[in-house]
Amino acid sequence: MSSDLPSYEQAAALVAAHARRLARQKKPRTERVPLGNAANRILGAPIAAEDDQPPFARSTRDGYACRAAQASAHKTLPIAGSTHAGQPPAGPLPPGKAWEIMTGAPVPPGADCVVMLEHVERSDSTIRLAPEHKINPGDNIVAKGAQARRGDEQLPPGLRLGPAQIALAASCGYARLDVYVRPRVAILTTGDELVPLEAAPGPGKIRNSNAPMLAALVASAGAEPIVLPTAADTAEALDEALSQALEADILLISGGVSAGKFDLVEPALARLGAQFHFTGVRIQPGKPLVFGEVAGSGLKPYINRPRSEEPSGPASIPIFGLPGNPISSAATFHLFAAPIIATLAGSRETHPRFVLAQLSRDTDRKTKPGLTRFLPAFCQFNPSISELPQVALVPWQGSGDLTAFARSNCFLVIPEDASFLEAGTTVRILLH
Ligand code: AMP
Ligand code: MG
Repeated sequence: MSSDLPSYEQAAALVAAHARRLARQKKPRTERVPLGNAANRILGAPIAAEDDQPPFARSTRDGYACRAAQASAHKTLPIAGSTHAGQPPAGPLPPGKAWEIMTGAPVPPGADCVVMLEHVERSDSTIRLAPEHKINPGDNIVAKGAQARRGDEQLPPGLRLGPAQIALAASCGYARLDVYVRPRVAILTTGDELVPLEAAPGPGKIRNSNAPMLAALVASAGAEPIVLPTAADTAEALDEALSQALEADILLISGGVSAGKFDLVEPALARLGAQFHFTGVRIQPGKPLVFGEVAGSGLKPYINRPRSEEPSGPASIPIFGLPGNPISSAATFHLFAAPIIATLAGSRETHPRFVLAQLSRDTDRKTKPGLTRFLPAFCQFNPSISELPQVALVPWQGSGDLTAFARSNCFLVIPEDASFLEAGTTVRILLH
């Protein structure tokens, strides 16, 4: 009965707890990569400031360095010299004078503010702060070391390296960065009906679309996908395939987890001694999702490279049995597999990024309450910063409808206790 199954929130909390435990068992190793290859990797060691940041008191404006008390008294200040960005700091500011300065240039010692060019009345050789303006000490100057002191940790390990982090690393002189070795995620698709991309599907057959989809999802979750040969729907084929799959850090199996006669994945995992954490979740699509783990040692090495773990002993491999319908596979991947991959990849950002949007059309009134739904939808972002993005369901023919899925850019969340949502409601979506 589905009421015995965990809710989305319960299942997500279980996955997160097991992910944290598994991550403690095997700390990711680090490797050093050139800064140019570090985008989207997870930082494996702190980035420290090589010097005070900024390394000198820096002007944030084009204008005149001077003393705030004198400028605010609207005194006429002779211009004693000029510094532009890239020049070394000028000597001390002579008393009662101003110093022409450009954005990014070092402020001469003795000056405690920079008045903006636009705020002064200027003659050939003097300036005066215009009567309608005031200035305070510190204005338009970033003091030496205000961002960070030499040797300070600027970024902790576990951050995903995006453009901002890469820029910071560059500013600190890191030509190479220590990043975590990506976990290896084996992808095992199952099903007698599946033919590879290159083959023309015969009667009753379909192309295997989950293998490339899951490979793309795994890569974008920050892990290394390893696509295994498809297994047929027999106990022997599954046993053989699983024995090869368990050299990875995480195993994703697609198909074979529903209640049908040829849904043989759970028994095959049980024969391997798998421990099951749940074998279904109150969600749609993806209700038959299986989550468990199996000891990862002593099995035939399919993959020749070592697992990304300390050689301190065998650790368990988390396993997801994803329902084979493509949208079920994708939804359960985003909701449950991506968080565990992110955790084992050493990332601090592990949760699905649910965001708010406004529903632009009523949802279908037919859905029965009792399951949290994650339905393909299209979120229209708009240029407004005061209005929410507008989201509407994409009409679909069920969880095998790849046409609808490929026209969507998010999942709309319909809470467990709702049967439909009205246009105008603020809703949660998960971008995919
Ligand atoms: P299953 O979970 O094995 O019962 O499969 C559910 C549905 O998903 C069936 O219609 C399968 O044909 C389809 N399916 C299973 N695996 C794949 C796959 N790798 N690629 C595309 N469709 C699949
Ligand atoms: Mg199947």
